[in-house]
Amino acid sequence: MTSANTKRLQVAICGAGIGGLTFALALSRYPDIDIEIYESARALTEVGAGIGIFPRPWKVIKMLGLEADLLQVTETAVVDGSVSGFRYRKSDQYEGKDFFTLVTQGSLMLFHRADYQQTLLNHLPKRCRTHCSKRLRSYTQRQSGPIELSFEDGTMASCDVLVGADGVKSAVRAGVLGEKARWAKGEGKWKEAAEILQHVDPIWSGATAYRALIPAQKLQAIAPNHQVLHTPGVQYLGKQGYIIAYRISGSKFINFVAFVVQHHLENTTFNGPWMSTVDVSAFSSTFTHWEPDVQILLSCVEKPMQWAIHTVRPMQSFVSGRVALLGDAAHSMTPHQGSGAGQAIEDACILAAVLGHPSTDRTNVAHRALRVYDSIRCPYAYRVMEASRINGRYFTLRLDEDGAIDIDKLPPKQQWEYLQRLGHAIVKNWEWAWTTSIDTALQEALRLLES
Ligand SMILES: Cc1cc2nc3c(=O)[nH]c(=O)nc-3n(C[C@H](O)[C@H](O)[C@H](O)COP(=O)(O)OP(=O)(O)OC[C@H]3O[C@@H](n4cnc5c(N)ncnc54)[C@H](O)[C@@H]3O)c2cc1C
Repeated sequence: MTSANTKRLQVAICGAGIGGLTFALALSRYPDIDIEIYESARALTEVGAGIGIFPRPWKVIKMLGLEADLLQVTETAVVDGSVSGFRYRKSDQYEGKDFFTLVTQGSLMLFHRADYQQTLLNHLPKRCRTHCSKRLRSYTQRQSGPIELSFEDGTMASCDVLVGADGVKSAVRAGVLGEKARWAKGEGKWKEAAEILQHVDPIWSGATAYRALIPAQKLQAIAPNHQVLHTPGVQYLGKQGYIIAYRISGSKFINFVAFVVQHHLENTTFNGPWMSTVDVSAFSSTFTHWEPDVQILLSCVEKPMQWAIHTVRPMQSFVSGRVALLGDAAHSMTPHQGSGAGQAIEDACILAAVLGHPSTDRTNVAHRALRVYDSIRCPYAYRVMEASRINGRYFTLRLDEDGAIDIDKLPPKQQWEYLQRLGHAIVKNWEWAWTTSIDTALQEALRLLES
């Protein structure tokens, strides 16, 4: 067996979430690359919640050979052509109103997160060594020689390339920005250095999500005709927030997420823990006057988890020398387009392809492979991040940025026209997810690398 230091590259991945594990699997196709995964948690677990995967990242999943296993744990059928998905309702009134059905080209695949993670782990070869209880504190990178990693438990490790897949509070992102700020200071650019450091801390989006898994049998017993039991999924929209509900795990559970959205608090600081278990009363008051279907769902929710939705300020680059960011560490976005994990999966695909390319080695990785990754993924992921932010506005029935038009003050005919315009705006803003393909990005990355 080749020992690690005779391998072409030693890659350390910090974080074993969806992004880190998908990247490890994609990179494991190159036997001459050594892979070590460092994860801060004591064991690999996922939150008890659902996840939707759009056609672009689904293509990556197929490339990685995960499709057959994942199809065992979803009720979503793979359709390549037009497929009717979520139904949208104006629900913040006694009688809700269906106004639009999302039609995508290719299915939005729906899973339980734990099933997705388990499938990844089942496919991950043993040579990708995963070290749990290893929280990265910082790293040191010099012009040449290995990158030194320092962990909270006092231990050290080294690598040629460090990939930060350590989520929204990323220690690797703090390191990348710290390096860039030091270089700026070295050139006397103090203002630039201060601006760079402002990107370290995530910012609150003004949205708070309340997640729960509802046993489908429980809903069935109360309301056998409830539309969530008989459709691919429903989004209940209102001016103060929205609810999304769809079936997962062979229809055993309903993935329920209620969002309370306070646009005026976007980019402020959230006071309190970002994640905690709360009582339904923590958010139900926002939905008290909503339609009966919503009340039935609320009556089924137990022990919801509260998530204050944080994002990162867009940076100029995901890369610093031989260190690269991936997933939420690079572009944590609002979940209003169900695409944060999808974008992490796309990062994983492109980053693995450029690192695995036979021309990439220790000496050129910073100037070629990682620059190509950055040039392809950074602009795209931030475009999706902005589209997701805009969806958050649309889902609270606001077509305009400042919410100047109050839909409830419009006469019925105009209100209906407004809702139709909203439906079109949602599709237009979202269609990148099914009208474009990851293949083009992959080809462009390889073309740039080989040119
Ligand atoms: C309510 C909600 C619904 C969503 N729905 C969807 C959806 O339908 N579709 C979709 O595509 N996306 C969705 N997302 C977004 C998606 O969950 C995230 O974008 C995705 O999980 C990010 O994966 P990641 O691997 O980059 O980060 P994470 O999942 O955060 O993983 C980071 C990992 O790094 C570890 N870590 C952290 N710090 C360190 C350290 N210093 N050292 C070592 N390890 C560390 C953590 O323990 C964790 O395991 C949703 C998000 C929310 C909040």
